[in-house]
Amino acid sequence: MNKYKNPLYCDGCGEIILDPKEAIVEYFDRGEDLFDFKIVHNFSSSPRQLIKGGCLINSSHSNTLDLRDFVGQQREKTISELEGAQADEIDKLLARIDEAGIKSKSC
Ligand SMILES: [Zn+2]
Repeated sequence: MNKYKNPLYCDGCGEIILDPKEAIVEYFDRGEDLFDFKIVHNFSSSPRQLIKGGCLINSSHSNTLDLRDFVGQQREKTISELEGAQADEIDKLLARIDEAGIKSKSC
């Protein structure tokens, strides 16, 4: 069964992320400033397991969150914890998730 309305592509390897369980959100945290939000495969689902960090754009300097923390009831709480993030970056990220049609943690 197709879990998506539209495919969600990994910003690291460019391949389609088949299941929301396979996705993480990578971002940079410089004190008050959170930026550069990306959606990438988690390591166990990454086609790039031979590379340290897998699909992460910059594994040694970035933070990650589960993509499923950005859907359903969890979304508001997650966003509120990302204080310091540019609103337009968050909007762009949420738009991508919604575009793909990922709606709940269980999907
Ligand atoms: Zn990837």
